Amino acid sequence: MSKRQIFDQVSDMEKQIGELYEQLGDLKEQLSKLLEENHRLALENYHIRKRLESSEDQPKIEKNDKKTPDIPSEGYDNLARLYEEGFHICNVHYGSPREEEDCLFCLLFLNKTK
Ligand SMILES: [Zn+2]
Repeated sequence: MSKRQIFDQVSDMEKQIGELYEQLGDLKEQLSKLLEENHRLALENYHIRKRLESSEDQPKIEKNDKKTPDIPSEGYDNLARLYEEGFHICNVHYGSPREEEDCLFCLLFLNKTK
């Protein structure tokens, strides 16, 4: 194998690795979107179930139950874990990645539901 061929092979590999790396980035982005979506749906599901239960208990639907959802400890644990995993759980940025920093809204929310 000539030096030229070796060089060509190496640059080919370099190109492939670059493309793979790009694909990996895309997949990672898709995965994070799916995770967010999943978390969002889980919370939505939780609220819908809760609403269903409460409307079975009493036919009147309270209008102000949206602002202060009263989350049982299991729900609280899930949200706390979600926060630890690096996602917002506050109303402001719910479901978006938190990027290392603490979020005041999230912390307030956690304290409120504790
Ligand atoms: Zn937040």
